[in-house]
Amino acid sequence: MRLICHTRHDRTEQLEFTVQVTVFSSKSYDRRFLEQANLQHGHDLRFLEARLGPESAALAIGSPAICVFVNDKLNAETIEILANGGTRLITLRCAGFNNVDVEAAKRRGIAVTRVPEYSPYAVAEHSVAILLTINRRIHRAYNRVREGNFSIEGLLGFDLHGKTIGVVGTGRIGVCVCRILAGFGCRLLASDIHCNAECVKMGVQYVDLDKLIAETDVITLHCPLTPDTLHMIGTLAIERMKPGVVLINTSRGGLVDANAAVAGLKSGKIGAIALDVYEEEEGVFFEDLSGNVLQDDTLARLLTFPNVIITSHQAFFTQEAMHNIASTTMENVTLFAGGNLDRVNVVVSP
Ligand code: NAD
Repeated sequence: MRLICHTRHDRTEQLEFTVQVTVFSSKSYDRRFLEQANLQHGHDLRFLEARLGPESAALAIGSPAICVFVNDKLNAETIEILANGGTRLITLRCAGFNNVDVEAAKRRGIAVTRVPEYSPYAVAEHSVAILLTINRRIHRAYNRVREGNFSIEGLLGFDLHGKTIGVVGTGRIGVCVCRILAGFGCRLLASDIHCNAECVKMGVQYVDLDKLIAETDVITLHCPLTPDTLHMIGTLAIERMKPGVVLINTSRGGLVDANAAVAGLKSGKIGAIALDVYEEEEGVFFEDLSGNVLQDDTLARLLTFPNVIITSHQAFFTQEAMHNIASTTMENVTLFAGGNLDRVNVVVSP
């Protein structure tokens, strides 16, 4: 493997490498935090607004490293173009890597790194924020009062205290959600392929997914999107849920079959949904499309329900999380350049 980079001596006289990094899908906030973190590394950052996919991969020709986000498409075709253009490192500035064809990267000897943990609190707190918003109808109350309508008709919620909450996935984020909801006085059921000792200690009861789905008043999803979890919430699961169930998804859109969710909302089986992610969010979330006609009929339908709120993949978006994402991402580039990848952050070794 030949890595094209420039050597320099920094003030501490250690040999370091300056790597050109093409940053795809970059927004002003990415630029701000990455540039700040890069002050300690001195890499050559090229910021592009374009999303990465086969049609834009050629923009990275000559860059040994690229930096990507959740909706960049790193399929085999994209990876082929990147590899032929000299890219040797794909560094994700996020935790999930379901958008990367890992086998294709392995085949072409491209390293893939990510930021496995940057602030589980950010995502957990947002999950609870949208649960409280949808339950207490804050989104409707906010608009009403601003319009001079001080009626509380239609804003009836329920106490979270004493309710049974189902947490699917009790990793870094799921355990934080359990801690917060335990503080509300909720009974917690969880489903995971591994038990989390901290959850067990705080009294969370592990059950299989079917039992969790059948017995809980609120279901909140915190597991990764894999072939096993794709559409884990679909028509059959919704049929088994308690009437009036509230569904929260801040994990990945593909966990929920959105058309089945629309049917569940129309029938009244689902009481409310709060989503921060959507299966077809690519090209929509993170963009200002005001004034344009929304082309996705399922998303458009979801937005018509008074008992649905959708945020645009912003659960991670806190100052602390952005700072940590940027510093780990730049660290990943520097470690790669020095031939020393951090095992915890590696998805694919070169
Ligand atoms: P994590 O790896 O720490 O935890 C994931 C947990 O899911 C693990 O305990 C794992 O055992 C469990 N799991 C795996 N397969 C499962 C299955 N089939 N059923 C039940 N549990 C299963 O990950 P995390 O940091 O807690 O993140 C969870 C998810 O949140 C990520 O996969 C990512 O997609 C998403 N996320 C979203 C945002 C956002 O801004 N909306 C930000 C960060 C992460």
